[in-house]
Amino acid sequence: MSELSPEQLAPLRAALTALAAELRSLLEMSAEGSRPVDLDEPIGRISRMDAIAQQNMAKANRRSSQLRLQQVEAALVRCENGEYGDCLACGEPVGLARLEVRPEAPLCIGCQGLREGRR
Ligand SMILES: [Zn+2]
Repeated sequence: MSELSPEQLAPLRAALTALAAELRSLLEMSAEGSRPVDLDEPIGRISRMDAIAQQNMAKANRRSSQLRLQQVEAALVRCENGEYGDCLACGEPVGLARLEVRPEAPLCIGCQGLREGRR
């Protein structure tokens, strides 16, 4: 069960909802720019490479927005289930300070560190 009080939970939940809406509109806006480069278009070699580099960057940004949206949505589900604020790996509280910085954080700082160390 989460250690968070309803007073602590409410603003975090509002932040998650806002974040989800923001990420969704970001993804909608970037959908147009991520279509494949038309390599038959006579735009020159340099600008073609430019276009591909830009596209790869847009794709990477999109990918990280998608991943973040998934985390945000998962966190909202955990709010519904009363599991929000507990580390997914060890079940300990993630901690209010950490959630205030990153409301979608699924792991406590210890587990997050372990995960990143293993990379
Ligand atoms: Zn943990």
